[in-house]
Amino acid sequence: MLVPQSLLALLLIASVEGCIYRRDEHGVAVSTFSYTGTTGPLGWAHLSSSNGLCSNGTNQSPIAISSSSTPTLSGSALPVVTIPEVSAGEALLENLGSTLEVVVNGTLKLDGVDEEYKMAQFHFHTPSEHRIDEEYFPLEMHMVFKSASGGVAVIGVPFDLSDSGNSTSLLTTVFAPIASVASPGSEAPISGALNFDDVLSAVQKGPLYSYSGSLTTPPCTQGVKWMVLGKPLDIDVKTYKTVKGVLKFNSRYTQNAPGEVNLVQYAGDGSLHRVVFRFRCFAPCIA
Ligand SMILES: [Zn+2]
Repeated sequence: MLVPQSLLALLLIASVEGCIYRRDEHGVAVSTFSYTGTTGPLGWAHLSSSNGLCSNGTNQSPIAISSSSTPTLSGSALPVVTIPEVSAGEALLENLGSTLEVVVNGTLKLDGVDEEYKMAQFHFHTPSEHRIDEEYFPLEMHMVFKSASGGVAVIGVPFDLSDSGNSTSLLTTVFAPIASVASPGSEAPISGALNFDDVLSAVQKGPLYSYSGSLTTPPCTQGVKWMVLGKPLDIDVKTYKTVKGVLKFNSRYTQNAPGEVNLVQYAGDGSLHRVVFRFRCFAPCIA
């Protein structure tokens, strides 16, 4: 039987996308990118024509933060963040394949910026995406805020393993239903109330590093106002191991310093290597 060309094309697209797209009966959209192989960070720009900044943007995230040179916010420059307590059972923990995410309401006001940012969601990466003085952490939470004009601000909160078995109460509550969201595309109600008080008071104490970067996932949009907490909060070993078993690995490699050449472009463009080499060796080369 002859198959019409348009149908054949659709079948081909479906079979290709079937490798990286999954959607369950609840409708949680699973990400089309991954952290491994050609759909991983080095290949993100090839997944869509809108992902070009992932391989050629020069203000990409995450970065290696330096306590001696990355600016910090203090006093009136600190963001004013309000996240009302979410009642038990109101929020959902969703497994997007690329992360575990929770949608909640909240607001963020930045010093010197007129418009208010609305909280869109918060999600997790393991290991941490940002490094602080070259040190990474087991887990990093990203609280994502968006303004009406399209601005994005993200607060990054690192978590470290607790020596005494303590865990930040927000994490204990958020991850309680994790066994029910082991598969990408699944979701489960969070049965406890979500309270951000401990996290927000730590953000106010700082240090809170600040820089202009990008989304750490495709399409790697730049102009993102990053604020990264310098002191990690606690997570207990048992909770972390459970989270790691579901999240697996979802951390983009450390990007070049803001304003410097994109590392994908640097690695792939031989002529760029030669230009940099000639520039660096100019004096000894002509000697
Ligand atoms: Zn993130």
